[in-house]
Amino acid sequence: MLTDDVMRCMDAIDDELLVRARDAIARRTLPAKPPERTWGGPGNGSPCPVCGHPLDVAEMVFDLEFADLPSAGSVFQQIHVRCFKAWELERGASQPRRARAGELDTGDLRE
Ligand SMILES: [Zn+2]
Repeated sequence: MLTDDVMRCMDAIDDELLVRARDAIARRTLPAKPPERTWGGPGNGSPCPVCGHPLDVAEMVFDLEFADLPSAGSVFQQIHVRCFKAWELERGASQPRRARAGELDTGDLRE
């Protein structure tokens, strides 16, 4: 049975995740620009650059490809779907407010 917490993580992007996404950009773990390519696939077990939790092989995650990263990191990066969304919000790629009502339902997004 799924706990409320898991359900919340599946559906919502909470403030903590946004803070983590912002931190990942600040630490240059992730760039503040969109990836060259984005596709989906199973996780590879490595830690997510945003939340730090493993990208489980049973989970569908995003594969990102960057032309180059400001850090010496890999040009390939996996990331959870919800962490990807948080990262997008933090770099201003999509509107955190009501622009996508129904898709984002946290009701408590900052700014
Ligand atoms: Zn994550």
